[in-house]
Amino acid sequence: MTKNIKRILLLVLIYSAILAGTIILIVVLVLDKNTSPKDNENTLSDIFKTSSSVMWIGPHPDDELFVAGTLGYLCKDLDYNCTIVAIGENPDFIEANKQSSQFLNAEYIRLADRIGKIRLDCHYKKNSKENIDCIAESWIAGGIEQEITKILSEKKPDIVFTFEPESTIELSQTHAASSIVVKKAIDDSKVSVHHYYVIQTTLLTEESFDKDKSGATDVFDLDTNLWNYKMQVVSFYSFHYPSLEKLVNNKTYQQERIHQEIFRKVI
Ligand SMILES: [Zn+2]
Repeated sequence: MTKNIKRILLLVLIYSAILAGTIILIVVLVLDKNTSPKDNENTLSDIFKTSSSVMWIGPHPDDELFVAGTLGYLCKDLDYNCTIVAIGENPDFIEANKQSSQFLNAEYIRLADRIGKIRLDCHYKKNSKENIDCIAESWIAGGIEQEITKILSEKKPDIVFTFEPESTIELSQTHAASSIVVKKAIDDSKVSVHHYYVIQTTLLTEESFDKDKSGATDVFDLDTNLWNYKMQVVSFYSFHYPSLEKLVNNKTYQQERIHQEIFRKVI
């Protein structure tokens, strides 16, 4: 009898020890996951806190509208040093570029004003990888990469935003090509920047957008103030686009769009 009680007590003791060990292990793992510096390191929000300059580079002199909420936050609210670079120019947009740069406290650089227009002679299938590469190569041959390298070395921005090279969400071959050229310019200029691709979301709804598929690493929420900054910049260009006009003028339509700017860290 005494032997049996001892055996039972021993078993209870062993089971308790195993249970306690498992609980301790789970607690340690959870704590480690929550406090691991890896998780908090280098998120875009952290980078925003320790930076003071930002550059947007896109092919068209209106593309900054895709990041206008984030630019509004950095350039207006945080008083960053801001530069907007457009590869091409459009005489119809000169006034809007002025309004946009004044509103965002940014310098607007149109590369075509500096080195002229570059003729594209690419005849592969539209939006194919071959055509995107052909556009990027034409721009590089025309001196665009060199000029961007010069601007990067001169301005030394802490953060650079561009489109993504594959345009996984809304494919625009010139947007994708510009991203390839900028990536090359950053690599060649050897400037140390935090480079992020923006995943185009201006007109997307939650239902139409698959965040996981987009490879997003950082999501920046636009509160009412930042959303209004974005709509202000969109309004400067809306005269040219019926879809943007609708976005600016229809509050219900606005409400249905994603109030976020979504980014992918470039590794
Ligand atoms: Zn564009």
